Formats: sequence, C-alpha cells, structure tokens
Amino acid sequence: MRSELCSRCGTCVGLSGGKLVFDNKEGKYLPKITGKLDDKLADKIWAACPAKHFDFPAYRHNFYPDASHFHEYTGPYENMYIGYATDEKVRRNAASGGLISAVLIHLLNSNAIDGVVTLRMSKTKPWLTEPFIATTKAGIIEAAESKYIISSVNDILPQMEAFIGKLAFVGIPPQVQSIRKLQKMNDPAVRNIKYIFGPFYGNTLYFSSVKSFLRSHGEKDHSKIKKLYFRYGEWPGSMRVEMQSGKILELKKFHANYLIPFHVVKNSLYCTDFTNEFTDISGGDAWAPVYEERGKGFSMIIARTPAGTKIINEMVKSGALHTEPLSEKEAIKMHSHGYDLKKRGSFIRIKFRKLCGKQIPDYGYTLSGFGIKRHVMEMVISFLFMVLRTRLARWTVEQLPPGFIGKRFEKARNFWKRSTRKIKRENLAE
Ligand SMILES: Cc1cc2nc3c(=O)[nH]c(=O)nc-3n(C[C@H](O)[C@H](O)[C@H](O)COP(=O)(O)OP(=O)(O)OC[C@H]3O[C@@H](n4cnc5c(N)ncnc54)[C@H](O)[C@@H]3O)c2cc1C
Repeated sequence: MRSELCSRCGTCVGLSGGKLVFDNKEGKYLPKITGKLDDKLADKIWAACPAKHFDFPAYRHNFYPDASHFHEYTGPYENMYIGYATDEKVRRNAASGGLISAVLIHLLNSNAIDGVVTLRMSKTKPWLTEPFIATTKAGIIEAAESKYIISSVNDILPQMEAFIGKLAFVGIPPQVQSIRKLQKMNDPAVRNIKYIFGPFYGNTLYFSSVKSFLRSHGEKDHSKIKKLYFRYGEWPGSMRVEMQSGKILELKKFHANYLIPFHVVKNSLYCTDFTNEFTDISGGDAWAPVYEERGKGFSMIIARTPAGTKIINEMVKSGALHTEPLSEKEAIKMHSHGYDLKKRGSFIRIKFRKLCGKQIPDYGYTLSGFGIKRHVMEMVISFLFMVLRTRLARWTVEQLPPGFIGKRFEKARNFWKRSTRKIKRENLAE
C-alpha cells in the first residue's frame, strides 16, 4: 500500500468487510486499515492483490490455453479489428468508437447478461468516479467514456457477489488482473462474472490533475464542479468541466495531456499491460492519421477468446458494429508509442527501481535487451517526470493559460515522438 505499486484497483477494500477504506480520494487515494484484519482475511487480500505479484505466463496458460495467436506485446488473441458502433448516439457518447458500450448493450439486449460492473461519475461528488452495476442501456451509456483519474471498480465486490444474475465486468488492467486472481481462487465475489472487457491503458492521474486544471482557470474549489468529462464531444474529445456557476472550462484531449507528467500515478508507469491482456475483448483508440482526420471515433478491437469473437461476429451480423480486419503488425505499429511505454519503458523503470533498492512488481516475465539509446531515453523521461511532479513545477505551470501550455505540450510531444521514433520502433513488431 505504501510501495508506490498500489493501483487502487479496490479489491482489498471490497474484500475487507469494511475494515479497509479508501482514504482521501481527492488526495493520495490510498487504502487505510480501520479495523482488525485476521490473518486469514489478510492472506486472501494479499493473494488477490495484483500490485506485487501477477504471473502473466501462468494466467495466460490458465485462461487462454488454446489462444490462436500470441504476441508478447498484445497478449493472447483470436482476431483484431478497427471498428465502431453503428448507433450514432452510442458512438458519439463514447471514448473512441463506442465498442465497449455497444458490446455491453448487445449482451444486455440479448439476455446474455443481466448487469454490467462499470464506472460512472459520482452522483454525490461529480468530480469523482463511482463503480456500479448497470442493468439498462441508459446505465451503460451513462458509464461510457474514459475516466483518467484514479478509480477503484473492485471495491464493489460485495455487490457483485450479492447480484442475482450474470455479469459483465469492465475494468482497466490492474482491476482485471485482480478479477482473474479471484476467479482462479474460486472466490464467490466473482462467481457471477461471465465476460470481462476493458480499455487499453496508458496511465492514470491523481485527482490533483483536476484541481490543477481548475486553478489554471482561476477556480479554486473542486466541490463547485457540476460535471466533469475527460473525452467530451467528437473524438478524440476534450476535457471539460462545468461549474455550478455555469462557467465552462474546456481543453482538447491532446492539449489536456499536458497534465500527465505533472500528475501521473506511479503504478501506471510500472504496469506492463497496455492492451488489457486478460479480457475477452479489449479496445483502444485507433490512433492513425487516416482515422483521426475522419473524426467521429474509431476503436482498435482485440477479441481474445472464442466467446469474444462470437460476440463481435454476432454484432457485425446484426449491424450493431462495423469492423475491418487488422493485422498484428499494423496493430503494433499503430500503438508503437504505447507498447514502447509499457513493454520496454516499464521494464527499464522497474530495473531502475530495483537499483534504488525499492519494491518491484513480479509479473513472472521480463523483457530485456533494449539498447543503450533506449535506456538513455528512459533516463531523460524519468528525470523529467521527477522534476515536473514537484510542487514548484506544478505551481509554475498553473500560472500559464492551459490553452497555451496545451499547445506547446502537444508540439513538444510530437517533436519528441518524431525524434525518438526510430529508437521506439526498432524491432518492435518482431
Ligand atoms: C485510464 C485510461 C487510460 C487509457 N489509455 C489509453 C492509451 O494510452 N491508448 C489507447 O489507445 N487507449 C487508451 N485508453 C482507452 C480509450 O480511452 C478508450 O477507453 C477505448 O478506446 C475504448 O473506447 P470505447 O469507445 O469502446 O469505450 P466506451 O464505449 O466509452 O466504454 C468505456 C468503458 O470503460 C469504462 N471505464 C472508463 N474509464 C475507466 C476506468 N478508469 N476504470 C475502469 N473502467 C473505466 C467505462 O465505464 C465504460 O464502460 C485508456 C482508457 C483509460 C480509462
């Protein structure tokens, strides 16, 4: 909990019977022990925690024994596609092409499931997120869009256990990994889960990112937020805050990305799962000029299990989803930045942590053999992250107009991407 490895997935809180709670969600958002945990419960929580141990090869072997394809970067899979939901409302309301929402609606409509464990903005504190079980199309639509702040879906494990009927679960990789651990342990909390879905995962930010965004706009009190969106409007969308006063603060997603180096949660820098490898279907943004120019929203889709492929086929047949096939090579090229961040950068950062004598995660596999240039690049990134996370750097950036800083950030990021493209793409698809 204090090792910087905690992802705040929520499993410990969910399993604890009220003896663990999340403390200070607007701050560090860490689990806090409030009652006496007996050894048996503590052991169970430790076994289900994905932060320190999650053996990728063993879990692949357990849950995907007959996968048709496997790549160390993408994980096991059956088919890959580019696609979007044909229901304009679903597509427009979603983060990318509306794939995840459309899949959930399809399963609910066809009675394949009775509810969905998912995440919406809180009803009582609209600046925070809250997990819930959606049982209607409206609930699924309400939960759409990516939330880039810490969220702990698994803290509703007791509700999942009490639910009568079949569930689909939606989560980011650490949450999904913990669900897989609980499934392997035959825990009753996950007995109702029939399908697992989830978005690709670059990183998560502390709530301080929202507070900083407000301060940059001259707003000091986050409790005056009426609505908070991270991907508002047409793809790729904008970060948008609606204040109780009627004031609206909005910044294009690519510009709002300037918040990342200032507020990134450490654990996401040590997570090596970019494409949500332990789901039935996972989806990401189809980042490529050909799709970005068209707007509207396109998803990259990875169907990992025969059940996942069956859902996609049914949806294409019924006209709910439009898909085009995608090769593994194209898929890796499209997200070369993300794979480099997670499948190279994370392992190098873990190596640096080990050298500093800090706790490191054990994923049952390591990737190594990256060149000296890649190590130097990581040193530069790590140094920048260290400096930009200081109070002084955060304060300084808040003195500048967010529109101005966002544009500069996008330019600097594109320059950095171009100048490191060769190092990043070297042997990436092999
Ligand atoms: C924190 C985060 C980081 C991401 N980083 C990348 C990236 O680097 N590259 C990339 O290509 N894609 C990334 N994505 C995925 C991308 O933003 C879209 O979520 C994905 O393309 C699916 O789009 P969709 O239109 O199918 O999803 P939607 O139809 O909008 O459905 C999204 C589903 O995910 C759930 N969800 C949203 N946020 C969270 C969360 N924080 N925790 C648990 N569940 C959540 C929603 O409740 C909803 O059920 C990220 C997503 C998140 C949440």
